[in-house]
Amino acid sequence: MNSTTSNNPTSANSTTFPPAPHVLRTASRVTPWRVVHPDEPLGNEVPDGVDSETAESAKGPVRASDSSRDLIIATGLTKAYRRHKTAVPVLTGVDFAAERGKITAIIGQSGSGKSTLLHLLGTLDRPDSGEIIFDGGRIDSLPTRQQDRFRNRQLGMIFQFYHLLPELTLLENVLTPAMISYGAFQYWRNGREIRERAKHLIELVGLSHRMKHRPRELSGGEMQRTAIARALVTNPSLLLADEPTGNLDHETGASILRLLRQLNEEHGLTIVMVTHDESIAGQCDALVRLKGGKVERLETQFWDAIPSSI
Ligand code: ADP
Ligand code: MG
Repeated sequence: MNSTTSNNPTSANSTTFPPAPHVLRTASRVTPWRVVHPDEPLGNEVPDGVDSETAESAKGPVRASDSSRDLIIATGLTKAYRRHKTAVPVLTGVDFAAERGKITAIIGQSGSGKSTLLHLLGTLDRPDSGEIIFDGGRIDSLPTRQQDRFRNRQLGMIFQFYHLLPELTLLENVLTPAMISYGAFQYWRNGREIRERAKHLIELVGLSHRMKHRPRELSGGEMQRTAIARALVTNPSLLLADEPTGNLDHETGASILRLLRQLNEEHGLTIVMVTHDESIAGQCDALVRLKGGKVERLETQFWDAIPSSI
């Protein structure tokens, strides 16, 4: 594969990439959301065709979930970690739903259980109680092998510290989940197609000129874009992102969010993102906060007041 080498090693980090396909809202200095009171009606969030009784029972800190609208739904999740002989509760009854084709942000103080929740949603860990439904099917109680298959086929994940393999090139890193997911034989048979997809994704995240570089030769933003391409190589329907901009400066973080928004809008990717960056959370389609082991639904209130340039 030909790769062009930029004279400027930081050029791919420029804030002009990727070109924003939509108007982005920028940070408000005021916290751009408010907590939705548990007794507050859902208003126009109640889906069409839902009768008033159902709508009434849907009042609560989290809107009523609906398998046709929501790709992943968690109900009554609890999780405690054992420390010495005592159980330390982290999640104490989390209800959560992420709508198909939307970006849902999870915020909350450090230690509030955001990563724990994301791990449960991604079947990397099991809840003590409660259930998780993905695309209409229960996933938290599946046998381990089926959970592995579920993750390989349906999920992409990105993390704050990228977790790239240092000895592999960018292209090889992106190919890794495909090799695992398809197995040696399938990968050998469909290798060309898979490599084309990987290259296409690398182009999409703006790193064609870095294809043969190793992680140590990439900037933080480039490493995160590589991780995004890697997460998408198996064509997942859900991307789970744990503080994807947490280790990046504001501008680079904003460019990563633009990229995620582009993938969401152009490819219908559903994204659940943990972030502690208020300006990033304020740009997502839905917002929840983990507090006291539970989730509260937040509503943005300053959408229209937020300037459109970033
Ligand atoms: P957040 O991502 O919101 O910062 P985490 O989900 O990582 O929070 O952690 C929530 C709490 O659970 C913290 O108090 C953390 O120390 C604890 N915790 C997380 N993972 C483990 C683990 N594997 N074993 C024991 N305690 C854990
Ligand atoms: Mg965390």
